Order: sequence, then C-alpha cells, then structure tokens
Amino acid sequence: MKKGVLTVVSGFSGAGKGTVMSLLLERYQNYALSVSATTREPREGEIDGQHYFFKTAKEFQEMIRNGEFLEYAKYVENDYGTPRAYVEKMLDEGRDVILEIELQGAMMVRQQFPDAVLIFITPPSIDVLKKRLVGRGTESMEIIQARLDRAVEESKGIENYDYILVNDRLDDCVTTLHGIIQGVHYRMSRNLSFVEEIQREAKRI
Ligand code: ADP
Ligand code: 5GP
Repeated sequence: MKKGVLTVVSGFSGAGKGTVMSLLLERYQNYALSVSATTREPREGEIDGQHYFFKTAKEFQEMIRNGEFLEYAKYVENDYGTPRAYVEKMLDEGRDVILEIELQGAMMVRQQFPDAVLIFITPPSIDVLKKRLVGRGTESMEIIQARLDRAVEESKGIENYDYILVNDRLDDCVTTLHGIIQGVHYRMSRNLSFVEEIQREAKRI
C-alpha cells in the first residue's frame, strides 16, 4: 500500500488553523490529525486526548527523554510536541496525516520527511488576526500580545513553506487545502513504481 501524504500546517495564533482542520476532517475521510502533547492548560471545552494530550512539565520532559517525539518546541510559555508513533502508523496505513504545529517544529519535520508538504495559513490581514484572537476570548490581553509578538517573528519564516493559504472565507480555504494535499498524491516521485511498470509495458509493444 502507498504511504499517506504528510502535511504540516502552520500559521499565526488566531489565523483559524483549528477551525479549518475541524471542517476538513468533517468533510473528508482520509485525514488523520495528529494530537500533540502540551504543557499548556486546557481551554474551556478542550478534551484531553482529543485536542491535546495535556501533560505536566515533568511528564513532557520524560517523553523527550524516551524519544517519543517526532519534533517538539517551546511556544510562548509552553512546550508542544508531536508523538511519533501515531504519525508513522497512520502514514504506513495510507492515511494522509496532518500536523498543526509552529514554525520551528515544521522545520524539524522537513529535515526528517523531505517529502512533507508545508502549508502556511494566514488571515487576510494582521488587523483581522487581532480581531480573531480577541474575538476568540480564550486568552488574556497579555498573552494575546505575546502571541502577536510571536506572529511578527514567525512572519519572517513564511517563505520556508511550500504553500500559502489565505483563510478569508472558511469554506474556500478548506476546499483549497484539500486540493493541495490531494495534488501531492500525483507527484512523479510518489509514483515511480507505476511509471516503471508503464515503461516496461511500453517496451513490449
Ligand atoms: P488558531 O487555531 O489558528 O489559533 P482558531 O481556529 O482558534 O485559530 O480561530 C481563531 C478565531 O477566528 C476563532 O474564534 C474562529 O471562530 C475564527 N475564525 C476562524 N476562521 C475564520 C474565518 N475564515 N472567518 C472568520 N472567523 C474565523
Ligand atoms: P495553541 O496554544 O494555540 O493551541 O498552540 C500554540 C502554537 O503551538 C500553535 O502555533 C500550534 O500550531 C503550535 N503547536 C501545537 N502543537 C504543536 C506541536 O506538537 N509541535 C509544535 N512544534 N508546535 C505545536
């Protein structure tokens, strides 16, 4: 069976990544969204094991020591990491896996999986970003400011991604994201054994 496509989605806090992911998973069946571990406190409505695996700082360090992470990074005040086992299992089963992670982690994934597709989601403007972050109402103004400062830093690394996706109309954004990922299945490099088969048959004509 062919391996699934590994996609990394990053974007400023408040860009709408979580919202886009939920709709993508609801609409299409072949995606597996990796659930990260984090030392951040759960937001209201967040469920352990579904949105994140919520860990203490000690537990997180233990996971690092055991080599359980594919990548990990610090974001504002907390640690975040992608458990390796789930990602590898899903890819082997032919599922298209999505990691919703920040920039440093994205670069670590690229080193380990050169075929991964890196997509940066942005709101139409920074003004809209501020409105979405404040509108979400899950962080204090102090944390919102820290996240906006981080957005300034991350904006310098956008060119390292393969695609830029503007989340203006949610519906269009999800359709385009799906299109980009599905396009990867047709990359020549992913289909070389089929190509060889066609070439062998062609020789017999
Ligand atoms: P992120 O996961 O990138 O931090 P969220 O998915 O939590 O962002 O979205 C931040 C806020 O913006 C939420 O209140 C969400 O409902 C809103 N939002 C997301 N996408 C859109 C969109 N296309 N149009 C308007 N509001 C949006
Ligand atoms: P939030 O606290 O808003 O859920 O996430 C903060 C940031 O951490 C977001 O940019 C999100 O993409 C990123 N993030 C979430 N999980 C991981 C992870 O496993 N690894 C890395 N490197 N970043 C992550």
